[in-house]
Amino acid sequence: MKTLVMKFGGTSTGNVNALNRSADIVVAQYGEWDRMVVVVSAMEGVTDLLLDCAEQSLAEEKGHYLVIIDDLWNKLNAVVWPIFAGDQSYEQLMVLIDTRIQELTSICQRIQLQGKSSPRDMDEIAAIGERINVYIVSALLSNRGVRCQAIEATDLIVTDDCYQAASPIQNETDARVNAVLPPLFAKAIIPVITGFIGATPNGTTTTLGRGGSDYTAAILGKSLHANEVWIWTDVDGIMTADPGLTPGARLIPDISYSEVYELAYFGAKVLHPKTILAASEANLPLLVKNTFNPQCKGTKIGNCSQTNKFGVSAVTGIFNICLLTAQIMPGRDITKIKIQIVAALTKQGLSPLAVFWDTRERSICIAFSENISNLAIQAFEEDSSLRLPGITFSQPQVTEGMALITLVGREIFITPQILSIVSSTLEKAGVNINLLGNGTSPDSLVFSVANEDGEHAIKQIHDEVILHDPMVSPRTQPALKHVSAL
Ligand code: ASP
Ligand code: MG
Repeated sequence: MKTLVMKFGGTSTGNVNALNRSADIVVAQYGEWDRMVVVVSAMEGVTDLLLDCAEQSLAEEKGHYLVIIDDLWNKLNAVVWPIFAGDQSYEQLMVLIDTRIQELTSICQRIQLQGKSSPRDMDEIAAIGERINVYIVSALLSNRGVRCQAIEATDLIVTDDCYQAASPIQNETDARVNAVLPPLFAKAIIPVITGFIGATPNGTTTTLGRGGSDYTAAILGKSLHANEVWIWTDVDGIMTADPGLTPGARLIPDISYSEVYELAYFGAKVLHPKTILAASEANLPLLVKNTFNPQCKGTKIGNCSQTNKFGVSAVTGIFNICLLTAQIMPGRDITKIKIQIVAALTKQGLSPLAVFWDTRERSICIAFSENISNLAIQAFEEDSSLRLPGITFSQPQVTEGMALITLVGREIFITPQILSIVSSTLEKAGVNINLLGNGTSPDSLVFSVANEDGEHAIKQIHDEVILHDPMVSPRTQPALKHVSAL
């Protein structure tokens, strides 16, 4: 049975034009698939407003959250009114929106009275954006003649109770999804499902983490053994670099799960990283497409990648990193050391972004995305679980104000030529680099540079190594510069 899951993000539903374009896309696919599911996130900016509202209920200025609730109501009405005015669905939608807004108000009142909010409250509040938007999208689709039904994923996606970053319990989710949805498919009804949210086995609302609607689409795709999952967004697909930093960035037509995972993990705003893991476990092809340019083929994420011959697909960076380096005496299982270090730091409330060690296993380098150097050093000095038998850590060294630059491409970490070309390119550009290692697979190469060199390093690698394929066009032939393999 041909099954498609399509997810529409906040920018694809954030205003009247975007909603109409998303509806056009669903209408165009209607009837083309045996089973079709639509996943919807909150309108652009709505989750931020909701979370802001929760925070403001704890602020000194009492009642400020009510101003935000007003803004939210106006924002929703500004979209719903032009589409549905004069239609009986307008009244129905506004009743629903008012009910949700009342729920929001009473949770905020309670938070204000108690003087504190719990992660569980935050999830209850954050979920409201999706809970409203599925009804707006399904009403719009019904007006366009599409048989559909709004469904809240609290009835489908069963999660643990790790609020704000819940993980699905896949077998229970599979059972619910395959009990609730097939009767709708049998009547040719398209389920329109809330992204981002789920519920614990006893029904308490949870969320999958910010940007989690992509993840919802992959979870549902996995449960339904879908043929494809399409993620509709406001860019053409995954690019060779951030076009904001690198104007020559190109669209990547095909890329592997592992390359995209590394890109997402090391800073590129592509997809929620867990989405990629879920899709690759199920061998589920993901397509990233532009709601505002649906003719463009977008990027296909699967097992294959289409890089230039030299093998590098894309480059990304994270800025304002803090690096902590410690010398270690060799002789022990380095993987075990890494696990112990991460566990000990996490116990102290410090979450390392990544841990690298040099190839001679003499030093370990821990990257943090914020400046927590003093706390980390203290942890090294005081936490006995960091004192491992046979290993002596020398005094850790801290370097602040760094950027992590990551290149992705099939097996690039174990292709020595790549490192040498990258180093010589950056050396010529006057940028000092420090190789750190790879991410979770040999498909990435991570190094650090000073923050102020970060943008320049990304541009140089992009233009000299990705666009100008060193294998196809020797660097001595400027006429062939910027030949792209795309
Ligand atoms: N609405 C949620 C958020 O803003 C989930 C999503 O957009 O995917 O994080
Ligand atoms: Mg989003």
